[in-house]
Amino acid sequence: MSVAYEQRPQALSRADRLDAELRDAHPREIVAAAVREYGDRLALVSSFGAESAVLLHIAAQVKPDIPVLFLDTGMLFGQTLDYRKTLATRLGLTGVRDLRPHYQDLATGDPDAKLWQRDTDACCHIRKVLPLDRALGEFGAWVTGRKRFHGGDRLRLRVVEESEGKLKFNPLANWTRTELDAYVVEHDLPAHPLVAQGFPSIGCWPCTQPVEDGEDVRAGRWKGLDKTECGIHVARAPGAAPNVGGDI
Ligand code: SF4
Repeated sequence: MSVAYEQRPQALSRADRLDAELRDAHPREIVAAAVREYGDRLALVSSFGAESAVLLHIAAQVKPDIPVLFLDTGMLFGQTLDYRKTLATRLGLTGVRDLRPHYQDLATGDPDAKLWQRDTDACCHIRKVLPLDRALGEFGAWVTGRKRFHGGDRLRLRVVEESEGKLKFNPLANWTRTELDAYVVEHDLPAHPLVAQGFPSIGCWPCTQPVEDGEDVRAGRWKGLDKTECGIHVARAPGAAPNVGGDI
């Protein structure tokens, strides 16, 4: 006798299956699995920020020509732009793409380049969300550097998740600060120059400040505002307004 449709166990989604397989895997295995699943339809998104070197090094070991999407918002520290160049060269990454905001979006939405003073969500939308949405169109999945120890919404971060029809792999979700630091030492990875000046998390210059001893890693981002993320990781309804939540 056949089992009634509603009594059959629901098939696992691709994201659920991969998350179950990879949730305790080493980050290198997770990146390798993502490459196996998606090949050239996989991208990595990196801010070339304070903790970016670890994931970029791992990716370079697995697939040096992986497309690396770098959001050059036009508001980055000069040190970040220098670091993006030297680190990519040092690691042998050949597929780094600089994503910039569209001229038209800036002309209509941020003509004086001071939108960040009036509406940070709208500014992030023009300078981060839209450029990344456009670039991700050709990819089926992407790799991020988010970690659970950053706290907030990231405490529940899965290793593999699905958002807006694409899979997101978070190979460092499980790693602790200690594991990251040990990897940096083991592979002699260069630090972002602003880390030594008290910046444990680095974004655009108008919205990033150094943190005090004992503060959270991301306490210097949008300090004093009720905003903790830039909006590139939250599913949005078509035509919806810019949202908060999620960062590289
Ligand atoms: S982080 Fe600040 S300057 Fe950068 S895009 Fe967002 S609001 Fe604009």
